[in-house]
Amino acid sequence: MEGNKEMRPSARTRSAGTRPEAAPPEGAPPEILFKPVAAIRLKVLRSGKVRVTAPPDTPESYILRLLREKRPWIERHLRLFRETRPVEREDEIRTGTATRILGRQLYVVVKADSRPSIVREDRRLVLRTPVPEDCDAVGRQFRRWWRRSARACFLETLDRLYPVVGRRGVARPSLRVSPMKTLWGSCGRSAGRITLNTFLYKAPQSCIDYVVLHELLHFLHPRHDKAFRTALTALMPDWPSRKRFLDHETVLGF
Ligand SMILES: [Zn+2]
Repeated sequence: MEGNKEMRPSARTRSAGTRPEAAPPEGAPPEILFKPVAAIRLKVLRSGKVRVTAPPDTPESYILRLLREKRPWIERHLRLFRETRPVEREDEIRTGTATRILGRQLYVVVKADSRPSIVREDRRLVLRTPVPEDCDAVGRQFRRWWRRSARACFLETLDRLYPVVGRRGVARPSLRVSPMKTLWGSCGRSAGRITLNTFLYKAPQSCIDYVVLHELLHFLHPRHDKAFRTALTALMPDWPSRKRFLDHETVLGF
């Protein structure tokens, strides 16, 4: 989108260096779909399935070569999904559901109580509800709480870091928090707005700082050019390791 500079979680979008000599990936055979698409696409699904979507006239040998070349990329994602699936793939919120807040793993405990509340008690997130059996209501309460907590955290971060660009004449941007499938954050320069992914709240504060600073700097440097990187590095010399942690250790979804 024009005017939007985006940060993508690399787990979903990045392709890897090629290694032509590698053997085909192990595990379940890849699913090959022929469809009238413009270009061949390779995807690793959360289920562990590898899917290739290709234009109908693509030679099979080409697809097999692609799978061989992308093997390191495929295996990295299979590993990532395998490692995170048991604890962080819960759509349903119930006692025992694991999630992460500010880099720390937590377990949800659902308790019956006449008054609804959610309180963090050490490593537990205690959700009190008059309807503990009602999964939908529990999920709604959890998501509302999450959104509110994430927003408060992001606003605090924005307030703390905004002076860095405020000094240079940038008006304080508004903040939108929204679940996004492929971005950690984006910067709408013309709207004067920063959008942060709801699930960024799972990452350590140092990573949240990195995303907020990154988006703030886009008000001064729209592109990821040398000037942008120089400004970022001057303010946050260790940004590459924060970015790496975000891309490799933080999973979208609760
Ligand atoms: Zn950017």
